[in-house]
Amino acid sequence: MFSYEPIIGLEIHIQLKTKTKMFCACSAHETGAQPNTNVCPICLGQPGVLPVPNEQAIRFGVLMGLALNCSIAERSKFDRKNYFYPDLPKAYQISQFDQPIATNGFLEIEIPNGARKQARIGITRAHLEEDAAKLFHTESGKSCVDFNRGGTPLIEIVTEPDFRSPQEAKIFLTELRLIARYLGVSDADMEKGHLRCDANVSLRRHNEDGTLAGAMFNPKTEIKNINSFRHVERALEYEIERQTRLWEEENPPKISTTRGWNDARQITEEQRSKEEAADYRYFPEPDIPALELSETAEDMKKELPELPAARRSRMQNEFGLKPSDTRQICDDPALADFTEQTFSELLEWVGDTSEVEGLNGLARLVSGWLLSKLMGLLSERGGDIKTMKITPENFAEFITLIATKKLNNTIGLKVLNEMLEAGDDPTHIMEEQRLGQMDDEVELAEVVNRVLSANPVEVARYQAGEEQLLTFLIGMVMKETEGTAEPALTRNMLLVKLKSI
Ligand code: ADP
Ligand code: ZN
Ligand code: MG
Repeated sequence: MFSYEPIIGLEIHIQLKTKTKMFCACSAHETGAQPNTNVCPICLGQPGVLPVPNEQAIRFGVLMGLALNCSIAERSKFDRKNYFYPDLPKAYQISQFDQPIATNGFLEIEIPNGARKQARIGITRAHLEEDAAKLFHTESGKSCVDFNRGGTPLIEIVTEPDFRSPQEAKIFLTELRLIARYLGVSDADMEKGHLRCDANVSLRRHNEDGTLAGAMFNPKTEIKNINSFRHVERALEYEIERQTRLWEEENPPKISTTRGWNDARQITEEQRSKEEAADYRYFPEPDIPALELSETAEDMKKELPELPAARRSRMQNEFGLKPSDTRQICDDPALADFTEQTFSELLEWVGDTSEVEGLNGLARLVSGWLLSKLMGLLSERGGDIKTMKITPENFAEFITLIATKKLNNTIGLKVLNEMLEAGDDPTHIMEEQRLGQMDDEVELAEVVNRVLSANPVEVARYQAGEEQLLTFLIGMVMKETEGTAEPALTRNMLLVKLKSI
């Protein structure tokens, strides 16, 4: 019996968040604009025009290359990729062929429940190009084209065939999207088409003893233009099953083909046989001089922010948060900022940061209240962390009230709700609404009795006429209840008890 190992590589297009298009001054991201209004002779490909590369797009591309541990080309150039299609008025796309801006990088991913826990995915290359226009097919059978998207900047990232499961491919895409967001180069929203993916997959056959049975690499299927993470995973799973059947029938794919994902039917469908690179008749774009990128790369290195993986491990180490919690927190940069600011307030409060035991307890409180309670309340209200009224200072104060047991979970939730509502600090809310105060007579009576029997000398002196000792005894009750005893009730109870003993 043979077994089959999936071999997967991805090609990802990410739309860069620049103001203007790749080679002209038209707006690049006006959502909802009337079709064919963000256009000019350059992006419509009229004769005699000169394309001028967008500096911001190049900087974004370099930044992305650096974040993916690539070498940035000292010298990079643009090429014409020739093909004829109604969404491409020039009949060529300006892209990059043999001197892309970035090559030879990698990205490490973690695979929580995978056969392997970690993988280093090689990045073959990343290059800049312009997007094609958008075609529409109306119900009446007409085909329309909107050139607004034509000429918007894209970065294409090509990976090595280093994934061994659809899950790994999905994790990689999720991490890549997060990196693009951390860098601010794209919103990388798949639903909006900011991130599109072609998934390549083939199988490798192994003998029972694990040795290779046949070739290291076999003809692959390329599944084109997948537009959601779930579809990537599903399409790959489907394709692996389909190819496994072919192999088991001793009829494996003999040539590489292109397929599309039909989500309604949950299958991949054959499209056309893959064009060879030569079909595109690539040649250097004569109107754009080569790019010298060494200086830009040095500049961009300084602008490289802390990336998601680094932030996760730092927050885990500094604050004692659980890996799964840090992942959730760092998936949203605004939430990660809020968490860090909360901890910096808290650490000031605990003082001694070396007290890991205490810190772990606090970390559990913070992640519990933040991730399950506060995020829950926010999503009920349709609010979000960026615009909510709770400041990190107030949230940290709230956590200290919980940690010192001045607030229990039930009242805590009320206070948190009120903080969201009013933006007030928790202590103020508790005073105002008399929340968290101990005014249960039975409970308070127990504390009063304990205080009286623990201080027989003071009791005796009070009874001998030193009435000012009442203040001392009230203070002791306050200390025991960590300030939550209701003052008037405490005073009365002490007076009554002191008379009766
Ligand atoms: P193409 O001939 O389609 O241009 P490339 O070598 O440029 O092929 O690779 C395109 C993508 O396909 C890359 O992401 C690469 O990792 C992946 N790939 C290449 N060979 C295979 C294979 N045998 N099985 C699965 N993926 C592959
Ligand atoms: Zn234009
Ligand atoms: Mg290729």
